[in-house]
Amino acid sequence: MKLDHDIKARLIATMAETIAAHSGELTDLDRAIGDGDHGSNMKRGFDAVLADRANLAGRPLPDMLKTLGTHLVMTIGGASGPLYGTLFMALGKEIPPEPGLADAARAFGAAVDAVKARGKSATGEKTMLEVLQPVADLLRAESGNPRDLLNLIKAAADAGLAATKPMKATKGRASFLGERSIGHLDPGARSSQLLIHAVLDVLAAHPALEGARLS
Ligand code: ADP
Ligand code: MG
Repeated sequence: MKLDHDIKARLIATMAETIAAHSGELTDLDRAIGDGDHGSNMKRGFDAVLADRANLAGRPLPDMLKTLGTHLVMTIGGASGPLYGTLFMALGKEIPPEPGLADAARAFGAAVDAVKARGKSATGEKTMLEVLQPVADLLRAESGNPRDLLNLIKAAADAGLAATKPMKATKGRASFLGERSIGHLDPGARSSQLLIHAVLDVLAAHPALEGARLS
């Protein structure tokens, strides 16, 4: 499927708007089990992406994603900057200019693997991977009918986020809290879930996904 200039510009704007609208919430989540900067970190990163929207949307998809990832690495900071930067840069490296579902699934899976390598982390450690990994697994398992796929992906992201609450963190700053990290959602898992919802809401309007139901 080809993503034209308009849809690429909308992807960027919608991700940035979502992060800006939830920046306070992300910071509150990080205040409970971290250092209270995840919202401002993410907003700084996506504000920089938004400021470069015209340039980014004019590039072929792989190049757009790689450049977007570079902006995030340079501006988010903290632990999440290199991790989100890696996610988008690896996605850009792996995805073809006009990806089909199988291409997108393979590229997203490779990008999540790159995050795991960068963070020396795996699922079960109460991080953004609780959301990213189930989405990658679901995409890989999909045989190709977009019908309901968007809702299934959203549900997988929501379930992954909810699963972080009872977990004990063993990676990142939250791990310093040990048992006291239990009972709180992970901020990075929430930002990942928000970004996944934002991207799917925009893609749902693409003619190639017509018929895909989205709640
Ligand atoms: P910092 O922890 O440096 O203040 P942020 O607050 O911006 O950075 O981001 C924290 C989030 O980053 C966590 O909620 C978690 O989801 C994610 N994170 C931290 N370390 C790792 C890691 N090693 N692997 C995957 N995700 C991680
Ligand atoms: Mg933090």
